[in-house]
Amino acid sequence: MTSPALFKNPVPEVPAVLLDALRLARRVVVFSGAGMSAESGIPIFRDAMHGLWAQFSPHELATPEGWEADPARVWAWYEWRRGLVMRAAPHAGHMALGQLASALSRFAGHDVVVDAVTQNVDDLHERAGVKGVQHLHGSLFAPRCSACGQPAEFAGVPPVEPVASLVPPRCKHCQGFIRPGVVWFGESLPQDAWQRTEALMAQCDVLLVVGTSGVVYPAAGLPAAARQAGKWVAEINPTASELSSHIHLHWQTTAAQGLGSLLQALTTRGTA
Ligand SMILES: [Zn+2]
Repeated sequence: MTSPALFKNPVPEVPAVLLDALRLARRVVVFSGAGMSAESGIPIFRDAMHGLWAQFSPHELATPEGWEADPARVWAWYEWRRGLVMRAAPHAGHMALGQLASALSRFAGHDVVVDAVTQNVDDLHERAGVKGVQHLHGSLFAPRCSACGQPAEFAGVPPVEPVASLVPPRCKHCQGFIRPGVVWFGESLPQDAWQRTEALMAQCDVLLVVGTSGVVYPAAGLPAAARQAGKWVAEINPTASELSSHIHLHWQTTAAQGLGSLLQALTTRGTA
């Protein structure tokens, strides 16, 4: 027989102060970053630049100038990354986020609205059932025309093995090249997502920051601004970040473990 100790639940204990804050909250914003995707096996930008891509700089792959110089190389890079995401699956943290509003409403005994804002360009939140996600850095799944800006469609499935060059599809309105729907270095954040995020942050009671190192501005400034505006701000992150000393709680755990055990705690205590 196997020792029961081997089956000890590794789920981390949910900090009491977090449950106390959530019990009073009517609106919660979850703000996620690269750590959330990394747990699904999606490499962060620089880690993805290996193999074929190691010979290129971020400037060549992810700037308007890099696109102008070689659209087929840039399109190949983003199609490869889209393929990586398509072969990945949402983890327990994404799944918990999809159920968080209903679990919180039962736990608190009043309706709770949960909104999600992410710096991630994948679609794992959506695939876990999270609605209305604000993508501050755009999305790998929202291509648009580089000339007229109309939303566009992919020509097919991305190649499994990386290729150095893939001619982008053409816009059916103006024949311009279709470009990735992500925000490149040197570009502004999408204005509608940014304005909605600012509104959500202003309305929320609790801000839960998950898996973001807090270094990419202007998004990185949101948690500190929320704290200054009187919001209760917690961070779920396995390592301390630049945010940690400026907020109410740094819960040292991963996105999958933290959000997963939070959902479990809300569910068991909410029905007691
Ligand atoms: Zn067009």
